Amino acid sequence: MEHCNREENKAQCNCTYPCSRKGRCCDCLAYHRRNRELPACYFPDDVEKGYDRSVDNFIKIYRERGVCWN
Ligand code: SF4
Repeated sequence: MEHCNREENKAQCNCTYPCSRKGRCCDCLAYHRRNRELPACYFPDDVEKGYDRSVDNFIKIYRERGVCWN
């Protein structure tokens, strides 16, 4: 089984939604990809809090602010 740095991932995660996938980035990405979304870490904190993780919202914010993740 692959090693997952779940606690390290959690420490860098900006997601404020109570979610069992937090820190399991592979599951997080797959979940949002299935829903045509992006994970919280692609959005600035103030936008992330709105929980709109749609690709449309990502493109809108990207056009307004540029890259917002580290
Ligand atoms: S970004 Fe989505 S899947 Fe990932 S921890 Fe937050 S709510 Fe869960």
